[in-house]
Amino acid sequence: MFKWSKEFDNLDIYGDCFRYTLFLMNDVCIFGEMQALDANNALLHLLNGDMQIMKLAEDCYWTIVVFSMAHEIAHAYLAHIGKKYSERHLEKEEYDADAIAYDIVLKIIMKESNEEPILEKYTYLAPAMYMDFFDLYYYTDRVLYKTMLSDSEHPNPVKRKGKLFAIVDRDEYDFDTIDGNHLYGGFLDVYDEYRDQVFLKKEKGKLDKIIHTERRNRMRR
Ligand SMILES: [Zn+2]
Repeated sequence: MFKWSKEFDNLDIYGDCFRYTLFLMNDVCIFGEMQALDANNALLHLLNGDMQIMKLAEDCYWTIVVFSMAHEIAHAYLAHIGKKYSERHLEKEEYDADAIAYDIVLKIIMKESNEEPILEKYTYLAPAMYMDFFDLYYYTDRVLYKTMLSDSEHPNPVKRKGKLFAIVDRDEYDFDTIDGNHLYGGFLDVYDEYRDQVFLKKEKGKLDKIIHTERRNRMRR
């Protein structure tokens, strides 16, 4: 949505969308969960039934859902085939689960079918965006609250993303990816822009009002 807002060449709309993204991330930092219904309603009102952006979000959403579910099933599968990971190599298990999950996603995408596709081809990099999303969340927390968040069970999302790219580059996954690359390129533009804006505004003291360290500490406890 933040990307889409740039195309209006209207600073007010752009500012609203930036703030929404920032508030969303801030709330995730404070509450550890997504924003509430009223915020979503405000967002949907702004989108005002724009079918293109809704379809884009939905298509990416399903690819990420399949990836997440396949990742969890992969853990069960790895346990089932008796694969053992020592305490020191738990990260390896996460990478293996990601690799199996991404293989499943890519194979679903590549499967030729006369019916409606289950997952849209152009969303093939959505799992990478999913990792970028976690990275943005950690980044926001770092800038706003000066903490280093880490998930004790999963490796750093940037590293996970790197491994996903290594998988998709393999010869066995060969499909037309121009739209997918275009989508991811656009996503990275706003990813960078969001990071720059948050950092600059924080430095200038413009975000002081939305930083709720007390509330955050309470929620965390
Ligand atoms: Zn896992």
